[in-house]
Amino acid sequence: MSDNKMPEDSAVSVSTHSQHFMEQLTARNPGEIEFHQAVREVVQSVMPVIRSTPAYQESGILQRLVEPERVITFRVPWIDDQGDVQVNRGFRVEMNSAIGPYKGGLRFHPTVNLGVLKFLAFEQVFKNSLTTLSMGGGKGGSNFDPKGKSDNEVMRFCQSFMTELFRHIGPDVDIPAGDIGVGGREIGYMFGQYKRLANRFVGVLTGKGMEYGGSLMRPEATGYGAVYFAQEMLSTNNDSVKGKTAVISGSGNVAQYTAEKLIELGAKVVTFSDSAGTIVDKNGIDREKLEWVMQLKNVRRGRISEYAEKFKGVEYMPGMKPWTIKCDLAFPSATQNEIELEDAKSLIENGCMCVSEGANMPTSPEGVETFLKAKILYGPGKAANAGGVAVSGLEMAQNRGFLHWPREEVDGRLQQIMHSIHENCVRYGKEGSHVNYVHGANVAGFVKVANAMLQQGVV
Ligand code: NDP
Repeated sequence: MSDNKMPEDSAVSVSTHSQHFMEQLTARNPGEIEFHQAVREVVQSVMPVIRSTPAYQESGILQRLVEPERVITFRVPWIDDQGDVQVNRGFRVEMNSAIGPYKGGLRFHPTVNLGVLKFLAFEQVFKNSLTTLSMGGGKGGSNFDPKGKSDNEVMRFCQSFMTELFRHIGPDVDIPAGDIGVGGREIGYMFGQYKRLANRFVGVLTGKGMEYGGSLMRPEATGYGAVYFAQEMLSTNNDSVKGKTAVISGSGNVAQYTAEKLIELGAKVVTFSDSAGTIVDKNGIDREKLEWVMQLKNVRRGRISEYAEKFKGVEYMPGMKPWTIKCDLAFPSATQNEIELEDAKSLIENGCMCVSEGANMPTSPEGVETFLKAKILYGPGKAANAGGVAVSGLEMAQNRGFLHWPREEVDGRLQQIMHSIHENCVRYGKEGSHVNYVHGANVAGFVKVANAMLQQGVV
């Protein structure tokens, strides 16, 4: 038996198989705790499908799914404004290309390491599969921190990063996008350097500016999509977001457009946060205040605590997350594992009925368990935040056809995609009268990729 095969005794339970598989994965990838967490959750959902499908076992689908097709790591040297040399580490994890070219964001944040990017790339494979579009999964980034850097420093870093990455990506190969710390500014600098090096004007990145091949609605897509997904979940109870109180974590791209759509649909948004703390505005964050936040975060690159100085009746909770605030709806939109057991309990005790994850894996396993036990509407990130990569896919389609679709068309397609992701989750996740969206998303995402891998042989 090869070192990653499972025991064949059919009497051995699914959970024993899962445990055995995870022991081997952990030993093979020591220290990559976020990757272990992401894989464990998927394995728990898909192991029954694998055990009942001999072809999946015979062709080692699961063993191949957890091994990236390629991992690239590289040095990123750049010179800061003082003239000193700085060295960061760059990565691209090309996880799985069974259903299309690698697609997934770039994250620039000091916490970036291989384990974090492998978890994100792994999640991306299933998420991209759910979108119904032809995109494989990848993720990349650097431990570079754009916070506090001048525009020139960010540009020099992005150019150096792309000087290595450009030889590994391309519109048919691997198409990166933004993620934490990578927005329109960074995508612009990286696109410019790619074009210069490759001497080709092609759609090699998504999230581009409107003037050079970007899609309308891409900036909005992840946040809007998370709200559309919440609407889909609520509609199963003949309910909607209208009139509900919502808490949001983060104050970046996803958080801002989640708030915009919630406000438009008549919900009351009461929080934003960043890594330093949370603001609570009991009066509700309206369009004008949101516009101010967008200026603060995207132009002045300030801190969310300034909101409490600017507007009356706002509480700033330093070092705190928003999960103790009473709400009907919660939209975690900052980072992984930001909802831990106590946070999940507090949300449930305070009456939260629906959690739609804009961020990737924002809830710890114990938190997920708490939501599932409480049988609230819980939409995991790989389903609820798939709107971002879906519109990236639409940006790629427009680039291929030299087209520029109107906003209504992109938004209509986004809504349709979120609807079909929801339907697919219900199809695979129905447990009596309740829908287990975690299970539904994992199995629905898995089946398409696994079948494509089967047909392509052992590669
Ligand atoms: P941004 O960089 O625009 O914003 C990130 C926000 O999260 C900031 O407010 C940041 O605060 C906060 N944050 C980041 N790290 C931490 C941390 N360790 N603890 C507390 N707060 C933190 O990123 P996005 O809005 O693009 O991404 C947010 C999440 O959504 C991520 O999980 C990302 O993977 C996910 N996502 C994003 C997509 C997209 O299209 N952009 C698509 C799908 C998922 P601070 O400024 O203090 O760092």
